[in-house]
Amino acid sequence: MSEQGYERQYVQEAFDTNWIAPLGTNVNEFENELAAMVKIPAAAALTSGTAAIHLALKAAGVGAGDIVFCQSLTFSATANPIIYQDAIPVFIDSDDATWNMCPNALEEAFKKYPNVKAVIVVHLYGLSANIDRIKELCQHYNVALIEDAAESLGTYYKGQQTGTFGDYGVFSFNGNKIITTSGGGMLVSHNKEMIAKARFWATQSREPARHYEHKELGFNYRMSNVVAGIGRGQLKVLKERVAQKTKIYQHYVQELSTLEGVEFMPNNEWDKPNYWLSCIQLKGKVRPLDVITALEQDNIESRPVWKPMHMQPFFAKYDFVGTDVAEQLFLNGVCLPSDTKMTEEDLERVTKIIKGLWS
Ligand SMILES: *Cc1c(COP(=O)(O)O)cnc(C)c1O
Repeated sequence: MSEQGYERQYVQEAFDTNWIAPLGTNVNEFENELAAMVKIPAAAALTSGTAAIHLALKAAGVGAGDIVFCQSLTFSATANPIIYQDAIPVFIDSDDATWNMCPNALEEAFKKYPNVKAVIVVHLYGLSANIDRIKELCQHYNVALIEDAAESLGTYYKGQQTGTFGDYGVFSFNGNKIITTSGGGMLVSHNKEMIAKARFWATQSREPARHYEHKELGFNYRMSNVVAGIGRGQLKVLKERVAQKTKIYQHYVQELSTLEGVEFMPNNEWDKPNYWLSCIQLKGKVRPLDVITALEQDNIESRPVWKPMHMQPFFAKYDFVGTDVAEQLFLNGVCLPSDTKMTEEDLERVTKIIKGLWS
């Protein structure tokens, strides 16, 4: 059956069985199927990856005034939930070797803030962070580790799915991710009880009683059964998507890697990336804006690398531990067009425009 065939079938089942409201077969099965795929005992399907990060923080016991270490180079959705919990972010620099959280900067932060409550590491653009060292540090300081794997479903670190190493892992099915349900997220953990608790919080913390009884603050974060039906169909095409994304990346490497000043994303032997986006660093005469505007003239969208959180006006007042690695990745970085709907001709058109900037 085609990809859309599976999605139609599951969504149709949701309508046929009148389970259009939250909960129902698809939600349970989407959780089970994703958990089995990433090899983790428990998963909670939620309305977004952001909601999953929020409930991960809550599950880790983060509350008002607590300090949370957060990778600076990321999308704002990683950091916003720290503020939702009235906690205090401390941003951590990246490492050139991974583009993700620098273990040395993290260690420095632990020494500066020994009372920290949780760490959020990100596997950006489908590249694994140096998770062994980061996990080791978190265990040494006895601090909860949350992995934002929103961009890294299908990325394996030493053969294990990213997002399954820490206390909590987060996936996103937003429209721009490697697979999508139009919007949605998943919280995963080895701790089945905390996942059950997250489901409870996500359904308004409604106590098991005939009437509506609430002993705790609740959230409306549960994924709907229709959305979960789409997710079940999407899981079946993840492998194919990763293969397509890998081909796009390989095309760019072949065409662009010999150009003066071009450096590709890091390539670590323990990492098997999903290549969600193909990104480069430009360290020569041609600048990121030259590439972005040249592509734009041909109606092709490309973007700078994420602007680090410690450089964002909203987060600038919080502490940052590190040097200028994340800042340089931002200043020199370009995310190349990486949509799996691109044809061979589209890809050739993109590389021809980019190569033109060097002639
Ligand atoms: C997309 C994304 C999120 C948030 O996921 P949503 O489902 O859009 O809420 C969090 N972190 C990163 C790194 C992301 O790319």
